[in-house]
Amino acid sequence: MLIQIDKLKRRPRQIELEKQASSFPVLAEMVVAQSVTFDESITGSLEVSWVGDFIKVSGHLATLVSTPCCRCLAPVSTRLDVPVLLTYMSAEEGEATHDDELELHADEMDLIYFSGPELDLLPDVEQEIVMSLPQHPLCKASCLGLCHSCGCNLNQGSCNCEAPILHPGLAALKNFKI
Ligand SMILES: [Zn+2]
Ligand SMILES: [Zn+2]
Repeated sequence: MLIQIDKLKRRPRQIELEKQASSFPVLAEMVVAQSVTFDESITGSLEVSWVGDFIKVSGHLATLVSTPCCRCLAPVSTRLDVPVLLTYMSAEEGEATHDDELELHADEMDLIYFSGPELDLLPDVEQEIVMSLPQHPLCKASCLGLCHSCGCNLNQGSCNCEAPILHPGLAALKNFKI
């Protein structure tokens, strides 16, 4: 997702994206850590344009993910729609402007600084995908979760643990005299 600034100044660029999650380093790590599974590739289109000293990136990405239910760990399938709206400003431009008011404005606008003849959109686009992942996925609102004592999935039936019981190892320790 490299953008040549010189070319972009001449004409806007349309990026048709179809990428595996493994092409994004942070997403690839999350997949290895099993905190998310991508059931489809990440697709969508981004329009990149040069608008008077700023680079504007806008578009939508979509994919299908599955994340573990935060109570019972069952996989929860979620269709993601990731709106992408990024604004970049040249770092040299930013330094040239010593206007406090403008700087404040820049923070509010979530400006991202870039420098050099090329701009790689990948890290920021990846961040948008990470931010849109479900935070506390639930398989259903009434999910009963797992029993704290025996780990049984309480959605599939109750266990025999009425009250919290001591782990057998801990019970043995209780009788251990120092
Ligand atoms: Zn659940
Ligand atoms: Zn139990």
